[in-house]
Amino acid sequence: MKSTYLAALLVGLLTTGVSQAAESSFINNHDHAPATATQARPDIFRVSLLGTGTPVPQISRGGYSTLVEAGNQKLVFDFGRNSATRLWQLHIPIGRVNAFFLTHFHSDHTNGLADLWLTGWLQPAYGQRHAPMELYGPKSTDALASGLQQAYATDIATRVKDEGTPLDGVEINSHEVTAGVVYNHDGVKVTAFDNDHGVNIKPSFGYRIDYHGHSVVLSGDTRYSPEVVKQAKGADLLVHCVSMTSAEQMKANPGYKAIAGHLASPEQAAQVMNEAKPALTVFSHIGLNGKIRVKDLAQDLRARYSGPFVIGNDLMQIDLPTTPSGKGYALWQSENIDNK
Ligand SMILES: [Zn+2]
Ligand SMILES: [Zn+2]
Repeated sequence: MKSTYLAALLVGLLTTGVSQAAESSFINNHDHAPATATQARPDIFRVSLLGTGTPVPQISRGGYSTLVEAGNQKLVFDFGRNSATRLWQLHIPIGRVNAFFLTHFHSDHTNGLADLWLTGWLQPAYGQRHAPMELYGPKSTDALASGLQQAYATDIATRVKDEGTPLDGVEINSHEVTAGVVYNHDGVKVTAFDNDHGVNIKPSFGYRIDYHGHSVVLSGDTRYSPEVVKQAKGADLLVHCVSMTSAEQMKANPGYKAIAGHLASPEQAAQVMNEAKPALTVFSHIGLNGKIRVKDLAQDLRARYSGPFVIGNDLMQIDLPTTPSGKGYALWQSENIDNK
C-alpha cells in the first residue's frame, strides 16, 4: 500500500513537470515491490519498461523493450540490448515468457533477441524454456528466426551434446502477421496496427493489448500517427516514443535530421495525447540528443499537454485494473542497477 501511495504521489509530481527529484525519493525503497505483489495477487495487468532507450549505448537506459503481464500471460514487445538482464532483475525467468512481439526490424529492437532466445533456453533458474519460442512480427520475421538458427547452430549443437539440453526450448515458431488481432489467449488479446515510422520503414507496427476491459497501447517507433491516436482513445495506458534534439546538435550532425523525421517530437507526442487523451501516458524509447535533459523534455511536454504523463525509466512498472469497472493505476520504480 505504501508504495502505491508513493507512486500516486510521483505521478502527481511528474505531471506538474517536476521529474527527477520525485523519482529519486523512492527508487531505492521499493526494489522489486511489484514482483512480491505478483505472488500474492491472483490477477494482474502490469506493464514493465524493460528498456527505455534508443540505439545510444548507455547504461542508464537499456535498449527498447516492454513486458506486459496479463492474467497468466507474459508477453515481451521488442528486444533491445539488455532486455534479458532487465527481465531477470524482475525475477522473471526468460523461459516463462509466453510470446514475443516485434514492431519492426531496426537493430535497436532486435539486438537483444538472440540473448532472450538462447539464454532463455539454458537450464538455470533464469532460463528454463521447454517449448518453442513464439515470435510474432512483420513480414521477414521468418527470415530473422531462421537466420538466428543458422548463426547459432554450433552453440546449439554443442549444448545439446555437452550439456544434454533438450532441443524443444530452442526452436522458434515464427508468425508473420499483418495489422489486426494477432494473438488471443486466456482473455488476452494483442492487436497489431500500422504506425508511421517513415516511408521506407514499412511495415512498422504498434501493438494494443486488451485484458478484462482495459487496454495498453504501445506506439512502437513512430512520428505523429493518426492510427496511434485511434488505438489510444479510451486506453488506460499509452506507451509512446519521443525524441528531442538540441538546435546545436541538429546543426552539427545531419544524422539527427533523419531521426527527427522518423520519431515523434515532444510537439507531435503532445498532439497524440491531446487527441487521444489516454488515462496515462508513459514515455519510453526516449532519445535526448545534444544538451537536452529529462527536465527539458518534461517541461516541453507539460507546456503542450495538461493531462497525466510520466517520463519512463528502465524497470518502471505500471499496474492497471483487472476488473471491467476498475479505474486508475499504480506505478513503481525499481532500482535499475544491480548493486548487490
Ligand atoms: Zn525504428
Ligand atoms: Zn528504435
